[in-house]
Amino acid sequence: MIITIDGPAGAGKSTVSKALATRLGYRYLDTGAMYRAVTLVALETGADPIFVAQHEEWTSRLNDSELRSDAVDAAVSSVSRLPEVREALRGEQRTFLAQGDAVAEGRDIGSVVWPQAELKVWLDASPDERQRRRAAERGAEAGAVALERDRQDAAQMLVPEDSVLVETDGLTITEVIERIVALVEEQA
Ligand code: C5P
Repeated sequence: MIITIDGPAGAGKSTVSKALATRLGYRYLDTGAMYRAVTLVALETGADPIFVAQHEEWTSRLNDSELRSDAVDAAVSSVSRLPEVREALRGEQRTFLAQGDAVAEGRDIGSVVWPQAELKVWLDASPDERQRRRAAERGAEAGAVALERDRQDAAQMLVPEDSVLVETDGLTITEVIERIVALVEEQA
């Protein structure tokens, strides 16, 4: 089964998606990390992000501690807006998902990358809550940056028509995961 978890920055996608994948014994695909790795390599080398996305070097940076740096946060939206970058990364994402059972998180996975997914979740939270979570993780400024990144990402954030909205305000991570596990069980 393919489960997609899309939504804005700070909604809790990474924590929830990783925990869900572990719980189900599924593979985990962090598509934001892919856009971040391409951005990081382009910033470091000065190369055209389209060229970077179309070659494989960026894949060795998927776990780099710099992926979540301020510089990458500031540049990633403009890189991910480039259609050629999106095409290259969507191809990689589809190759991964074609291999079966996975939880994939991002902005456009249920809508564009894998619309045939068995379960599509749109994970959301109020702007206040998202800003608060990011600020708690990474400082006050990061909270404001996350909301600004959402504004810049508006064109990429495509709510699938047939997605299930999970609003996470006031819920613990465990409660969110339980809610999604219940949705998975309905599908099985
Ligand atoms: O999920 P994360 O915040 O790490 O994503 C980083 C950036 O990558 C987003 O702000 C967005 O610009 C881009 N992204 C995207 N499409 C995806 C996942 C992420 O455009 N499926």
